[in-house]
Amino acid sequence: MSSECLFCKIAGRSIPADVVAETDNALAFRDINPQAPTHVLVIPRQHVESLEEVDDPQMMGELVTLSRMIASREGLENGWRWVTNVGSDGGQSVFHLHFHLLGGRRMTWPPG
Ligand code: AMP
Repeated sequence: MSSECLFCKIAGRSIPADVVAETDNALAFRDINPQAPTHVLVIPRQHVESLEEVDDPQMMGELVTLSRMIASREGLENGWRWVTNVGSDGGQSVFHLHFHLLGGRRMTWPPG
């Protein structure tokens, strides 16, 4: 836990969020500025800065499984997108690993 990290505070429930699912090691909550009808952020509870720092395949597996469960529950049977931004050129603004789960509309490519 990093005391200054926004998503650590959300994981610790000291800052409120619209939580849609949680496990012992992961939390999922709705993005405050949604870019699609479903826009959920899936995070590990453990503070990991970005994908660059991931060294735990089991944790990654849990994030994948939780995301698929949420996509199913949200009714995204036509598809969805799973994105993580890494570093400043990647567009990362919160430096606690998170995956954007986006769905409910047709996504465009390439992303901006
Ligand atoms: P990124 O730019 O990839 O680091 O994504 C950070 C995301 O966190 C953005 O989509 C923000 O809208 C979202 N966000 C920032 N603060 C909050 C918050 N308090 N609750 C939910 N989502 C947030």
